[in-house]
Amino acid sequence: MLANYHTHTYLCKHANGNMEEYVENAIKSGLQILGFSDHAPVRYSTGYQSYFKMHPEELSLYVNEVLRLKEKYKSDIEILLGYEAEYYPLEFKNMIDVISLYPYDYLILGQHYTKNEYDGFYPGFRTEDENILKDYVNQLICGIETGMFTYIAHPDLINYVGDEKIYIEELQKVCQAAKKANMPLEYNILGLRQNRQYPNPLFWKIAAGEENTVIIGSDAHTPVDVFDKESTIRAIEEIESMGLKRVENNILEII
Ligand SMILES: [Zn+2]
Ligand SMILES: [Zn+2]
Repeated sequence: MLANYHTHTYLCKHANGNMEEYVENAIKSGLQILGFSDHAPVRYSTGYQSYFKMHPEELSLYVNEVLRLKEKYKSDIEILLGYEAEYYPLEFKNMIDVISLYPYDYLILGQHYTKNEYDGFYPGFRTEDENILKDYVNQLICGIETGMFTYIAHPDLINYVGDEKIYIEELQKVCQAAKKANMPLEYNILGLRQNRQYPNPLFWKIAAGEENTVIIGSDAHTPVDVFDKESTIRAIEEIESMGLKRVENNILEII
């Protein structure tokens, strides 16, 4: 694995270490590309403030530090400036407006809430509610269809424990939309290491059937996790055993 595009910073309030340590660990681990993708700030129409994202006022701090590190380490590693964001129907434009104050390299789609966050549900909580599953799926598809995202982070975050047939039917739609848009799906190392509900074997069986491509993402919230070798080896074995096709060297073409 030569690249990781899923990296957070202390600005999101649930990650730690300074950003330079993430870069130093990436270099030490032999990565050629390190993309920062902290939770994108949103200026919510309701005045709500997210508890897991940087504030819009912190954006310049984030951008300046990524650019400083990009320049400082340019002979050792390629550093990219990105964000992880949800597709929230009422707030998507407000998010894009904030981050567009500065040029950025890429966006990854991580749907951490349904609806608009303040009125939605955390899909990582177990639920048998079909409506939550459908909101999650529809929002991912809307996100894919904006054409603005490079890949989907932990597409299998949804913890639906109802009828398996409905799960398959719904998540198949996500895989098909991603395939059509040529978007890789992320096999999430954080979830794997912590034995979370994702990576979900049933989801990846669907993805194998739809012939999706897979990218590995560290989802680092602490510098040492930029490259977790043991979990990455395990991830590669699992991906290959399911007959899934990986993005070559884990490197994306980002224009
Ligand atoms: Zn996070
Ligand atoms: Zn993340």
